Amino acid sequence: MIETGVPDVTVGLVRADNPSVMTLDGTNTWIVANGDGSWVIDPGPDDPIHLQAVAAAARRVGVPRGVLLTHDHLDHSAGLESMAALLDGVPIRRHGSDFSDVPLEATFTPGHAADHIVLHFGDDQHRVLFSGDLILGQSSTIVPPGGGTLIAYLESLAKVTAIAPNIILPGHGEPIEPALPAVEAQREHRLKRERDLVAALGDGLYDREALLDRVWSDVEPALRIAAHVTMQTNLEKLDLEGRLPDDFESEGRKSWRHRAT
Ligand SMILES: [Zn+2]
Repeated sequence: MIETGVPDVTVGLVRADNPSVMTLDGTNTWIVANGDGSWVIDPGPDDPIHLQAVAAAARRVGVPRGVLLTHDHLDHSAGLESMAALLDGVPIRRHGSDFSDVPLEATFTPGHAADHIVLHFGDDQHRVLFSGDLILGQSSTIVPPGGGTLIAYLESLAKVTAIAPNIILPGHGEPIEPALPAVEAQREHRLKRERDLVAALGDGLYDREALLDRVWSDVEPALRIAAHVTMQTNLEKLDLEGRLPDDFESEGRKSWRHRAT
């Protein structure tokens, strides 16, 4: 059980056994319960052992009422239908759903995924936010290129700041508390990369590998491909904002425009 400070609400965690470089220790499946029942957030992989453990934990704290999804990536969503069936056919709520029967508020936060939402509850004193993959514990999330995702991601971080949670319970990693400095650190992390990238381009450094060596020099080899993707996302943002040098090689621009269409 996680101590949230919100009276009469309990939060539990069951972590899926799917650790990897992208999922950290595994996907976090959160359970929220109040006097009316319990809700499962992000069932995780379609793994019977994990889903049974989640169902048992949800029943321990209340009558299961529904399954909520932060975004449709398989490490969060593959077990969605199985989970709902296991809980006697409770409804599924996700981006675009009616949340009027759910005691959590959903806020649209695209950037990591086009359908990403964060879920939150509480009052002015204590506010708890489930961040999915928008903000992770102990890592920064992937923002894939296509359609101005980094611009959307930064706007989504601003929405989280406006919600002003005390604690963030992420889709991977440990609870983040205090929450707001971590959100600000994420924003600053992205903007610092952008400043460094603009400076490197200004120095006439146009080669992708050379840019990566300069701006993402701290990234370990296992994450270099992920850093390539991130750089493409940063370049896309600069292109959309008209901030790329005119003579920057156009082949790269085409590659993300293809993905965006
Ligand atoms: Zn994930």
